[in-house]
Amino acid sequence: MSISDYERAERIQFDPQGYDLETLAVRSGQHRSLEGEHSDPIYPTSSYVFSSAREAAARFGGEEEGNIYSRFTNPTVQFFEERIAALEGGERAVATASGMAAILSTCLSLMQNGDHIVCSRSVFGSTVSLFDKYLTRTGISVTYVDPTDLNSWESAIKAETKMLFLETPSNPLSELTDVAAVAEIAHKYDALLVVDNCFCTPMLQQPLKQGADIIIHSATKYLDGQGRCVGGVVVGRDKHMEEVFGFIRTGGACLSPFNAWVFLKGLETLKIRMDAHCRNAMELATWLEQQDGIDHVFYSGLESHPQHELAKKQQTGFGGVLSFEVAGGKEAAWRFIDATTMVSITGNLGDVKTTITHPGTTTHGRMTPEARAEAGIKDNLVRLSVGIESIEDIKADMTRGLSAV
Ligand SMILES: *Cc1c(COP(=O)(O)O)cnc(C)c1O
Repeated sequence: MSISDYERAERIQFDPQGYDLETLAVRSGQHRSLEGEHSDPIYPTSSYVFSSAREAAARFGGEEEGNIYSRFTNPTVQFFEERIAALEGGERAVATASGMAAILSTCLSLMQNGDHIVCSRSVFGSTVSLFDKYLTRTGISVTYVDPTDLNSWESAIKAETKMLFLETPSNPLSELTDVAAVAEIAHKYDALLVVDNCFCTPMLQQPLKQGADIIIHSATKYLDGQGRCVGGVVVGRDKHMEEVFGFIRTGGACLSPFNAWVFLKGLETLKIRMDAHCRNAMELATWLEQQDGIDHVFYSGLESHPQHELAKKQQTGFGGVLSFEVAGGKEAAWRFIDATTMVSITGNLGDVKTTITHPGTTTHGRMTPEARAEAGIKDNLVRLSVGIESIEDIKADMTRGLSAV
């Protein structure tokens, strides 16, 4: 290797300081190899070789930094972690096999038997199952609260409370939680605020800057954006991420380098995709509100949304997910869905393709009817994750749905 090769390698490392989000999404976390490749390389290797027995011993002993095994570290996974940390404004990110692995790892690495979580009752369905069925077995208890009511957050806190957990805006009703206010409550009682930022992505909302301690992502959704891979990531301060990393390293819920590479490619277009999702969702929500056959539209961009002002304060856009109640019950909602011909009938969201689902019998079907009623998820509710197709084509498909209600 010539000196100029090393100089080139030095020159091409990207220092994220002072750059805007759009630039960070495209360039941060880039570490070109001496080959000078322009696109991020994938390192599909399970282990790494050492130049000598002494070097191997030093790596394993922790005296020398470097890769050992891809369950611990992998360069492509590290590029993805650096880019997410830069976008969320966190000290460090740890990638995980899925969004659920990110939540599990955060809880198990930062809490223990006897600890307590206060959780929004409007979180992702599998999060509720994870907490109720599995976390409780480890002696960690959970209290669910109304995410929009600050008093309910504060009054649920006990001496054992270590974590407050929320998702904003929520799925499927777009309820918002005031992140700065809940962060203040958490810190008053020495608890951590964990925010699942899946729906907004750092392009629309950066909860760490509003006082949250830890961010969770399902990278499966908007970060990939094209429905290709399952993955997740946790972001926060070094001292917390060291614990999460330790758990992933031994627990094994690590991200594959191939998936990390797909997410790196997805992140390059995150800004323009989120702008397009927001634009289409806003136009569709406004249009749906005016249609006969639609009882109510839930979207924080609408003036009719009770937390529209909060959405304007803590988000820079209203996102791509909306829901609406059709006139009638479950049968009418199903007829609406079945009469569409373009949008995809699937529970997934955050894709460039518009998706449609009936929350009551799919994503939220495992909740008891009472819990669903309490959360406000009625049988006539339909959820859309608005994609980036032509808005006229999406409206035409909704018109087909409406004609069947
Ligand atoms: C999908 C999703 C998850 C879980 O992520 P996976 O990658 O499917 O494990 C967590 N939180 C929210 C808000 C989600 O939408």
